[in-house]
Amino acid sequence: MDKRSALAVTAVTILTCTTNPFLPVETSQNAPLVVITFDDADSSIYTRGYRLMRAMDTTWTATHFFPKSYLDQPTCVTLAEEKEMERAGWETGGHGGIGHDNLSSLPPDTMTALVKACYDFLVDSGLCHESYAYASGMYNDTVKAVVAKYFVNIRAAHDYYYLDGVNRQELGYFAVKGGFTSDDIIVRVEQARSLGAPLVIIGFHVILADTAPAVPTYYVRESAFRGFLTYLEEQHLQVMNVRDAMKILCGS
Ligand SMILES: [Zn+2]
Repeated sequence: MDKRSALAVTAVTILTCTTNPFLPVETSQNAPLVVITFDDADSSIYTRGYRLMRAMDTTWTATHFFPKSYLDQPTCVTLAEEKEMERAGWETGGHGGIGHDNLSSLPPDTMTALVKACYDFLVDSGLCHESYAYASGMYNDTVKAVVAKYFVNIRAAHDYYYLDGVNRQELGYFAVKGGFTSDDIIVRVEQARSLGAPLVIIGFHVILADTAPAVPTYYVRESAFRGFLTYLEEQHLQVMNVRDAMKILCGS
């Protein structure tokens, strides 16, 4: 066992949740839960993200956040694909409003209607509707209060370390950007491990073939993604969606 693992094994973390502040859960962790998220419904999330994760370990799941208007668009995930992923344990989450709306820039009435539309779309489509991610990570206190009326798990933008507990209404993530190698991603998980953190959230957008031209949005090359999955498998890390991680860390 290396020094980092030894440190992590001895870590005992007291975890509390904002929605359940009087029931701290004490748990001994020897490695962080690894939560994987995908944003914005690019078709590669199904063709590469979902399929490659399934091929590596059928118990692994992820959370997919996207706005209503992206579904079934050309080059986007379809409702049938999203439902197939949910049947395999994946979680759908709300994102933005109807489009990729920056809610903090809108009048309160408009913003509230968009959050409701986002939630209603998931419910009406028969999709999971417990988790939400702010589009472009943009929010303020008014937005936060409205989103919290509809969703129990909320992902913001800052990459938190969760050393003082997990606030399920202000989760963070490590955003994988164009040009990242698998080692660039692995380093973040190793950092969580060495700190004794209970959780690390890694966020992907588009998964590009190694030979494809770069795109302006966040992306990862397929070989880097595969390398990251191989690392997770070799290290026997627990890989899951936001909802299931919150069940473990927050007890519901
Ligand atoms: Zn987005």
